[in-house]
Amino acid sequence: MDRLQKVIAQAGITSRRKAEVYILDGRVKVNGVVVNELGTKVSSKDTIEVDNVPISQEGSVYYLFYKPRGVISAVSDDKKRKVVTDFFTEVSERIYPIGRLDYNTSGLLLLTNDGEFSQLLTHPKNEIEKKYVAKVKGVALPHALKPLTRGLKYKGEKYAPAKYDILSTDTRAETSIVQLTIHEGKNHQVKNMLEAVGLPVQKLKREQYGNLTLGNLKPGEYRPLLKKEINQFF
Ligand code: URA
Repeated sequence: MDRLQKVIAQAGITSRRKAEVYILDGRVKVNGVVVNELGTKVSSKDTIEVDNVPISQEGSVYYLFYKPRGVISAVSDDKKRKVVTDFFTEVSERIYPIGRLDYNTSGLLLLTNDGEFSQLLTHPKNEIEKKYVAKVKGVALPHALKPLTRGLKYKGEKYAPAKYDILSTDTRAETSIVQLTIHEGKNHQVKNMLEAVGLPVQKLKREQYGNLTLGNLKPGEYRPLLKKEINQFF
């Protein structure tokens, strides 16, 4: 057990003195509850947040994961469905996914225990490009997809312009393979944008995040990020 201000300072957030001020100002939570007493002791099992960002009491770790379909982008699930962290049996740090992929979406997902990194990557102003490949119902025609490049409003949500590429169409099966590149991360964004242009998504995979790709990974596999891959985001 250590004093809260010491643990915050050790996580590299700020000095011990400033950590005391943060605590007194009510900016620090332990296990979801604001703690504003300086004497508080915490252990490595406690979750500590500063300004609602979890701090890491462990060394920071960063992984690139190939999420299979049928897995929840979370660390636990009420309904006992498989979650992404179930695949990290060899990793003892308390990692969590950076953003989310839908249950039935496969592809590239980053996981970390570094709250600052996670916030940085999910902040809309950073506009990190994400590339998806979707199998859609319908024969995709370029003029019908044009609204995607201007941005669109659908089901009350506004989506910024996206780039698209029609990779193939199957006129007999009436399906197409479409690549969509977006830089936001709204709920069901790709599904909604394609549905908005009349192409409901049947299957979805995220192939790229920034300049990171899945490489040779197979569904369910992961690898640590290289230092230079981490640093490019800072
Ligand atoms: N857009 C979606 O619709 N689903 C995802 O999982 C990711 C992006």
